[in-house]
Amino acid sequence: MDASRLAARLLDVIEHDILPLTAQGVARGNKVFGAAILRKSDLSLVLAETNNELENPLWHGEVHTLKRFYEMASRPGTGDLIFLSTHEPCTMCMSAITWAGFDNYYYFFSHEDSRDAFAIPHDLRILKEVFGLEPGGYRRHNAFWDANALADMVAAAPEPEQRRMKAQWRRILDTYAELSTRYQAGKSDNDIPLN
Ligand SMILES: [Zn+2]
Repeated sequence: MDASRLAARLLDVIEHDILPLTAQGVARGNKVFGAAILRKSDLSLVLAETNNELENPLWHGEVHTLKRFYEMASRPGTGDLIFLSTHEPCTMCMSAITWAGFDNYYYFFSHEDSRDAFAIPHDLRILKEVFGLEPGGYRRHNAFWDANALADMVAAAPEPEQRRMKAQWRRILDTYAELSTRYQAGKSDNDIPLN
């Protein structure tokens, strides 16, 4: 599959399918993390979802997406699917993706971004405290899956696609910055354990 075409499609799904759901979720008091599942064959969307930790602290964007996926009456096999996460999955979510049988995931923001730009340090703290790993210390290519940073794919894309994707990247960053500010301003009122 053409990596540049895939990156362009994943950016579109973040901007047009995940972000509108996340804006609604943040308005209710949830975190900014979202995810989606697409078919490898034609890159069509199976479903998108967003964080719902107010209902259950395990409903991270990724796990909430998987919960909805397994509620579908019929669904493709996970071997035929792409898993997209707006943020590099935490250890719970990367395990959930593994147990569900995906052989890949793609993400927009890194663990370091979650800590530095979103004031959500929990992914890296869990990696360090539970597993003794420094940032980036997990195996991104292993027997189960390959982890792919969208940033690397955009950086490797030819022009003029790269320029177009970078403009879209900035729009997406701006939207997340607003949503993050809104979440952080209201989070002292919620009872999410790691908020
Ligand atoms: Zn997670």
